[in-house]
Amino acid sequence: MKILVEKTKEPKRKPSSEGLSFGTVFSDHMFLCEYSPEKGWHNARITPYRDLSIPPSNMTIHYGQSIFEGLKAYKTADNKINLFRPAENIKRLNASCRRMCIPEIDEKFGVEAIKALVDVDRDWVPEEYGTSLYIRPFIFATDPYLGVRPSETYLFVIITGPVGAYYKEGINPVKIYVETRYVRAVVGGLGEAKASANYAASLKAQVEAKEKGYTQVLWLDGIEKKYVEEVGTMNVFFVIGDEIVTPALTGSILPGITRKSVIELLKSWGYKVSERRITIDEVFEAHEEGMLKEVFGTGTAAVISPVGELNRDGQIITINNGEIGPVSKQLYDTITGIQYGRIPDKFGWIEQI
Ligand SMILES: *Cc1c(COP(=O)(O)O)cnc(C)c1O
Repeated sequence: MKILVEKTKEPKRKPSSEGLSFGTVFSDHMFLCEYSPEKGWHNARITPYRDLSIPPSNMTIHYGQSIFEGLKAYKTADNKINLFRPAENIKRLNASCRRMCIPEIDEKFGVEAIKALVDVDRDWVPEEYGTSLYIRPFIFATDPYLGVRPSETYLFVIITGPVGAYYKEGINPVKIYVETRYVRAVVGGLGEAKASANYAASLKAQVEAKEKGYTQVLWLDGIEKKYVEEVGTMNVFFVIGDEIVTPALTGSILPGITRKSVIELLKSWGYKVSERRITIDEVFEAHEEGMLKEVFGTGTAAVISPVGELNRDGQIITINNGEIGPVSKQLYDTITGIQYGRIPDKFGWIEQI
């Protein structure tokens, strides 16, 4: 499908690298593509970033048929732009489509759309090490209808915006509250899709954890509240003795691309990595026995987020003295090094624009 390009006549002022945060500033252009049963996906175009117009009866507002992705573009020292495994994002977008009754997009076309948009706004990719251009593809229902059924029409949109370095003052491990009351997802639900609804479901726990002085929650399974699933909006890893454990993808866990990359890297370094079910009891017991060396979350935003403290119903454990551990550090340095082109990409993860 051809992508028409309408360039802006009023380019915006770009913010300076120092003042960048997350999710507040957007680049000059966006990508749009529509779906109808008659035409399939059609009318692909890049236009100036502007408001969308939707009727109050828009189905997404009422019933939440909406999915998204998140990835980043990184500027290298020689002024190239690197994308990290973008085909994995589009593959996962289609997996989310299938779960949410949304028509899939052609995977090659999806990656082309991301590249075309980033290319048009390539001057928006900030240069300072640690900063990046965040890319947010999303698809939502556009039928004006209040009956409950899958929409017949959809809009696929991609917006981008420069974001600051996640760790501005070094990597400080976070305090995490083990959530025993609310659940994020259950097997058979939407947990393994990157559906907007999962985020709506998680807000209450996040707010209450913040009130207690914690950054995020550790999610347990929705049925027995026994097995560890994720940490906040990240996948989670435990270094226990010489084994590195991450919860197996049993249906309620989001299959993270950082998670997948971490597993591949750790295996290439000779670590013993297990994707298996792990109970919160096992984590606390491992700590008691002095075997719990590191806990960390993985996701596009932070790459690696070390956990320094876990609170389970008032029982508090400190991990690695509240400092970043060697496995977390090595993973963080390697993945960010590959993303910014400072370390050779022997896995073929980078696509350059
Ligand atoms: C997006 C997301 C992740 C991380 O996925 P990455 O591909 O590594 O960014 C983990 N958990 C949830 C719930 C997510 O939405």
